[in-house]
Amino acid sequence: SKMSDIEEHRKKIEEITLEMIKLLKTRTDIAKQIGDTKANLGMTVTDEEREDTLRNQVTKLCKEIDLDQSTALKFLNFLFNESVKVQSDGKQTHLSVFLKAKELEEQGKEIIHLEVGEPDFKPPKEVKTALEEVYDKGYGKYGSPKGITELLDEILLHEGESLIGTGFTSEDLEVENIMVCPGARFAVYLAISTLLNPGDEIIVIEPSWPAYKDCALNAGIKVRTIKTTLETKWEPSIDQINNAINENTKMIVLNYPNNPTGKYFPEKIQDSIIEIAKKHDLYVLSDEIYAEFAEHTNIPTSGVSFKSVLEYNYKKSIITKSFSKSYAMTGYRIGYAVADPSIIDKMSKLQALSLTNVSEPIQYVALQALKSEEAVAENSKIIKSRLDVLVKIAKDIGLEFIEPDGAMYLFAKTKYKDFDATKFSEKLLNHGVAIAPGEGFGDYKEFFRITAVDESRLIEGMRILDSMLKEKND
Ligand code: PMP
Repeated sequence: SKMSDIEEHRKKIEEITLEMIKLLKTRTDIAKQIGDTKANLGMTVTDEEREDTLRNQVTKLCKEIDLDQSTALKFLNFLFNESVKVQSDGKQTHLSVFLKAKELEEQGKEIIHLEVGEPDFKPPKEVKTALEEVYDKGYGKYGSPKGITELLDEILLHEGESLIGTGFTSEDLEVENIMVCPGARFAVYLAISTLLNPGDEIIVIEPSWPAYKDCALNAGIKVRTIKTTLETKWEPSIDQINNAINENTKMIVLNYPNNPTGKYFPEKIQDSIIEIAKKHDLYVLSDEIYAEFAEHTNIPTSGVSFKSVLEYNYKKSIITKSFSKSYAMTGYRIGYAVADPSIIDKMSKLQALSLTNVSEPIQYVALQALKSEEAVAENSKIIKSRLDVLVKIAKDIGLEFIEPDGAMYLFAKTKYKDFDATKFSEKLLNHGVAIAPGEGFGDYKEFFRITAVDESRLIEGMRILDSMLKEKND
């Protein structure tokens, strides 16, 4: 009968599913073994070439057996991500070094922090006043997940002003385009988690701040990395980008001025990337939290000026900004996103369900901070002059790097072949200086990132770094 047919098919499906789970176990075990071997050999986890080979084999098989390619490739992306997860333990990042440095400090050691990603100066004085008056002002209730109106209006004004003189005018921007978030990191998380689906692909250009990759992995999204090099001035080729795109590609991440390199692209490259994104209908997630550490600075070293992705007026772009760096408000946890209202709606729904709203008192403080343009200009001048000091010392001691156009970091390597920056940073930490090993930013084991802190600590930290480098190779 029909009923017994169904029963039989159900049994078959159960068997197949359990068989697939067993195969997944076998596959995961092998991946783990490969991971351990790679770790011993000092190799990176992801091997894009191997993945491409397998992807091509799957595509070919789909044609032979008449299976929908997109579904199969999403399933394959799930498998790739599982392999990455079991292989990713134990990488050193700026955070893990920071935590070790803190431990040493608790034992009474003095540490010069050149690994941290935060300015060491105080927030603008408007912030102090705002903190004093916010209680009496009555801020502190539940509110809209997108933010308080006063702050949204002020951000609109602020962003509008920065667009003066560009093709994109302030009239193209409305309050519906903006939402306040507890930091740019959360805005990045919201964008990646709500706009993409498991099995989709996201393109990240490395070296890169690690959170884009981590957010994607967390949401079951496949990361395609484009590796850039010092030799090509940290610029990707258009071929590299085109080759990374397939039918599951949904987003490309840009972060300029870049953490860790401080670079931004010549306009032509950025224009081409946006063109490619439009052609393939990709989201562009542009993390511009270092924008203020570019515009107000002197002529950038590469002779190009920074152009916000907002200026392209592309419907599928998301721009993230923050009060953390330019206003020195890292621990206040506040930033914002600018995007099309349909995107903002999606992001604010997840924000509502996970947070209800961003802390109202902190929003009021941020509102007052926005009125301190002079302080931001001053901060960016300070950062620029520190970067100049850092660049000069780094040149004097023979480090190899591209001069940063902005942000607050130097990403460098030494002239020594096969230099292991992770081991070096461990050794250096024991001599009182913390730096961020390059492996935290992708496949850059020879590199390290140094933050432009105040001049006296910078000079002392770099002196110790130089002496340790010499000792290593004597
Ligand atoms: N984006 C980049 C590129 C960063 O370097 C950082 C902080 N290191 C963030 C975002 C996080 O910013 P926030 O403090 O606003 O979450």
